[in-house]
Amino acid sequence: MAASYVCGVSDTPLIYQTVGAALDSAVERFAARPALIVRHQNVRLSYAELSAAVDDFAAGLLAIGLKCGDRIGIWSPNNAEWVIAQFATAQLGLVLVNINPAYRTAELEYVLNKVGARALILAKSFKTSDYVGMVRSLGAEKLPHLEEAIVISDEPIDGFRSFAGVSALATDALRAASRAIAAGLSPDDPINIQFTSGTTGFPKGATLTHHNIVNNGRFVAARQRFTENDRLCIPVPLYHCFGMVMGVLGCVTHGAAMVFPDEAFEPGSVLDAVERERCTALYGVPTMFIAELGHPSFKARDLSSLRTGVMAGAPCPEPVMRRVISDMHMTDVTICYGMTETSPVSFQSMPDDDLEKRVTTVGRIHPYVEVKVVDADGETVPFGVQGELLTRGYSVMRGYWNDPEKTCDAIDDGGWMHTGDLAVLDDEGYCRITGRVKDMIIRGGENIYPREIEEFLYRHPAVQDVQIFGVPDEKYGEEVCAWIRLREGMVIVEEDILTFCKGQIAHYKVPRYVRFVDEYPMTVTGKIQKFVMREAMVKEMPASKARAG
Ligand code: AMP
Repeated sequence: MAASYVCGVSDTPLIYQTVGAALDSAVERFAARPALIVRHQNVRLSYAELSAAVDDFAAGLLAIGLKCGDRIGIWSPNNAEWVIAQFATAQLGLVLVNINPAYRTAELEYVLNKVGARALILAKSFKTSDYVGMVRSLGAEKLPHLEEAIVISDEPIDGFRSFAGVSALATDALRAASRAIAAGLSPDDPINIQFTSGTTGFPKGATLTHHNIVNNGRFVAARQRFTENDRLCIPVPLYHCFGMVMGVLGCVTHGAAMVFPDEAFEPGSVLDAVERERCTALYGVPTMFIAELGHPSFKARDLSSLRTGVMAGAPCPEPVMRRVISDMHMTDVTICYGMTETSPVSFQSMPDDDLEKRVTTVGRIHPYVEVKVVDADGETVPFGVQGELLTRGYSVMRGYWNDPEKTCDAIDDGGWMHTGDLAVLDDEGYCRITGRVKDMIIRGGENIYPREIEEFLYRHPAVQDVQIFGVPDEKYGEEVCAWIRLREGMVIVEEDILTFCKGQIAHYKVPRYVRFVDEYPMTVTGKIQKFVMREAMVKEMPASKARAG
């Protein structure tokens, strides 16, 4: 059997362009076409207008003394300023540091100090987060590198400049100086640090170059066959590469329009945006599509303008995919798989891959990317055999900022990024993601893949969703735990689950602990955090052990 290795080819070469040059080339070709529509702010900018706003803000950042290579944080939900800041910082060669809007003081302090950020752009507040108050509470003592804080607002706040005020500092001379800096940048310069979502607990700053993200965004949109006539609805967060790379750079490299429905995901706003703006494409993680399909107004909506989009970040249940295609008209919807450290996408389905392929696999390899699947000894496994997925190519990050040790752990001497994901490649090049190396449960020497038990329990008629993970156990090392969400109106007990498993799956896979829950701990991007569930179980462990007898 041949070894599990694939390498993407394409008639389209990689482009060697900075983020700023990518916007300039959209302006050259599509100046008057819509670029940025932000519905909750009532903003509508053509490519020429977006570029002018970017030039002003870049000139303003220059005026306040920021220099090429400086790190500048952005801590805000989705808005027009986020997109303008993305391009303005790139024009000056400032490394934009994406900060999760859900972070609180301790996390903010950690990431700003980790990268030595000189400046921070921040929203005033969002939901229960008072960003300005949190920065104030840390103060200069805890944030020794931070010199400038720019609040997204028309008016300055005591001690903070305003976004509009910084743009107002622009002069012709500063604009020219900022353009001159842009012309001297290399596509290989780091331009963005993205702190990974933390499904494993500890934020690491994946450092990406212009070349990494311009090309990845471009290929993600190309596989959806984007043109300047497309209008993409982007409900995913900008701080994550799903928003700023696959969304923003995907659109800009094709002259398509970006449509932001809201500050953060809200199914009703997404449906409004698609309907009113006649969007042709929609992005989301599976849970977002589930919420849109389940919205009370869904049936009354005209979503007939939709054609394509991306569903990514987690496996998509088949019934959801069927409804996305039939009820949302997204006949050409694609599935993507990737991770922040690889800019992000490595695999994507084709619009014409059959339904079975689109639900059971993440499609085929992206252009100019190599992937192999290896066993625990690092040996490449044959096609059809599960192992860890390794990625190499233009899309692999420079490393984790200021963390050579973690970088060495992640990227080996051969340039392979170790994803920590378990996958199976077939001999046609389709890839199935089967779990996480770290999620694997080892119970008394038996390897257990949570995904397998999850798929089995999904078959139970009362089970809406199930998450399986390992919890520590004195005797076996680890034991299997299930957190189950029941379908509405269904009532079952632990015993019913055990009876359902009995004789159907090996005894060691039958959950030792079963909990019925209303929701799972999740990251903002909809990734379920098993480590949080594990911690919760560990806390109640003595009690649960007593109950289990
Ligand atoms: P992030 O760096 O936040 O984008 O998270 C990357 C991780 O999300 C990957 O390492 C996978 O574990 C998971 N992931 C991304 N896309 C998919 C997908 N289509 N199916 C299953 N898991 C996925």
